[in-house]
Amino acid sequence: MANIRISSRYAGGNIRLLDNMGNEIQLEQELRDTAQWWFYWSFRADSSLAETIEFVFHNGEVIGPWGPAVSRDGISWRWLGSVAVIAPNRFRYTFAADETCYFCFSIPYQMHHFESFYATIDNHPLVKREVLTLSEQLRPIPKLLLGNPQASEHLYLTARHHACESTSSYVLEGLLEALLEPSSSLLFNDYCIHVIPMVDIDGVENGDQGKARAPHDHNRDYIESPIYRASDAIIREITALGAIKAGIDFHCPYKWGGRNDVPFIVKKGPPVKQEILKSLISG
Ligand SMILES: [Zn+2]
Repeated sequence: MANIRISSRYAGGNIRLLDNMGNEIQLEQELRDTAQWWFYWSFRADSSLAETIEFVFHNGEVIGPWGPAVSRDGISWRWLGSVAVIAPNRFRYTFAADETCYFCFSIPYQMHHFESFYATIDNHPLVKREVLTLSEQLRPIPKLLLGNPQASEHLYLTARHHACESTSSYVLEGLLEALLEPSSSLLFNDYCIHVIPMVDIDGVENGDQGKARAPHDHNRDYIESPIYRASDAIIREITALGAIKAGIDFHCPYKWGGRNDVPFIVKKGPPVKQEILKSLISG
């Protein structure tokens, strides 16, 4: 009887258990319909004993320099820290008896995180909430309208075209908080801001990579005949608006290291633009 139970049956869960050897657990991320190697994973571990367990991943380097993200309740997360990292595919954790822990590739951002944030702006006079459309799995895809829908200018903000790119949602939260500060109020004389925070809501909640889905992912769906309801609805909305002043689509293009550790604007200029155009792995 194993002392550790592994599961991924919660919002954002993603893991394949390869072997449970008591004090060493063999795992890998589920790529699902992603047609190339990718790195997102998230699992829950219930330990009956107080002991140190090593978690070993079998498909590439999926543990960053800050270690995995860790949570006691699946809601509040922090980095476990570099001391937990044995190798980029291996970390350790010392459990207390009967302890439950959630571990994730990065700090996650699920719909329950969005709802907690939304509760803080729900009563703001400039905020209106609508449903963009229903997803393929019939989840309502939230849409926020900031300011006057009749304004002369429109901005369009989107996130999670790639489901696993969670930290971009925290950047979007920060931007919305700043936009709703009284000091920004003059902006809304002329501008209405449309926000779609969870484009691939099914992928986010199901714990998909979402990147490079076959036959193509949500970010590559801005084509004549879109295959996803969300991108189809966004195209229709922007077409109906006639023109938008600007749009920002929030991503986390890759894992750790270099420019990936700080916010940046993709393809803004050299050398990033050239590197991305060359490798064709943008966004
Ligand atoms: Zn992306």
